Amino acid sequence: MILKALEMQGFKSFPDKTVFKFGKGITSVVGPNGSGKSNISDAVRWVLGEQSTKSLRGARMEDVIFSGTSVRRAQGFAEVTLRLDNSDRVLDYDSDEVSVTRRYYRSGESEYIFNGENCRLRDINELFMDTGLGRDGYSIVSQGRVADLISSRSVKRREMLEEAAGISHFRYRREEANRRLEQAEENLIRLRDILAELESRVGPLKTQSEKAQKFLVLSEDKKELEIGLWLHTIEKSKNGLKEQEHKLSIASSQYESTELELDELEAKIEQVINKGRDITAEIENIRQNASSLEEEAARLDGRIAVENNTIEHNIESIERVRRDIE
Ligand code: ATP
Repeated sequence: MILKALEMQGFKSFPDKTVFKFGKGITSVVGPNGSGKSNISDAVRWVLGEQSTKSLRGARMEDVIFSGTSVRRAQGFAEVTLRLDNSDRVLDYDSDEVSVTRRYYRSGESEYIFNGENCRLRDINELFMDTGLGRDGYSIVSQGRVADLISSRSVKRREMLEEAAGISHFRYRREEANRRLEQAEENLIRLRDILAELESRVGPLKTQSEKAQKFLVLSEDKKELEIGLWLHTIEKSKNGLKEQEHKLSIASSQYESTELELDELEAKIEQVINKGRDITAEIENIRQNASSLEEEAARLDGRIAVENNTIEHNIESIERVRRDIE
């Protein structure tokens, strides 16, 4: 595995995108004090997941972002990409080149990208474990660290030696297993508590369960009885329906014959009405004849009275004439 390139943008004293290409052999970075040489090794450790702000020589993680100068504004984020040649497949990834990117924003958001895809810090740690580039790796020894290591606690030294021997992976797994074991034990304690709690509920629950079973048996009986009742009702209804259907057919035939009779009666009534109408017309005629006859009789009565008067007058005239003659 060979370091191919390091790209930085907005990281510490590198506001612009800066690319370091490393050839084979030794690369030396030379510069005056404070020119930013150590910032390069900080960038390598940072992109590989360094979480300690102290070892990055800052107070907060935000300090890795270019903080500006009198002539240049501060940056909003820092980004570092490390490119490695993996043609010897030291890293457990099937690609000749791998790249790791870490991005950190002032808002506190951070991203890890492995070969163009977002990933977790844990994935990066696991990938570089036992390669010397890991979290406790020996490949990056910053200024003053050698003396630090010699004088530091044996635990720290041991971590470095384990990484060099390629067994830190096992240590990591052991720690992971221990952590899980602790978690499992905690879960077990919680489960025991729950069990104890549940055991105290067993008595009342048993009574409730017996009641529930009894209820189930009784509700089954109730269901059967209800079904029986329904069947009986249906049978009864069927018989009633048959009877009503029979009555209906009789009533229908009666209705039909009554309707025929009604038709006949209506025809007769029609005839009678017509006849009545004729009779009424005849009566009207007779009444009109009678009234004209009455008028005629009255006229004749008048004439008779006039004639009688004339006769009486004539008789009186005859009498007078006779008396005159006599
Ligand atoms: P020495 O040889 O003394 O160790 P060096 O060349 O390693 O120095 P560094 O310590 O890497 O230099 O860089 C320090 C410089 O980086 C300082 O000038 C400091 O102002 C600058 N620097 C560090 N952090 C930031 C930041 N967040 N923004 C801007 N500049 C920064």
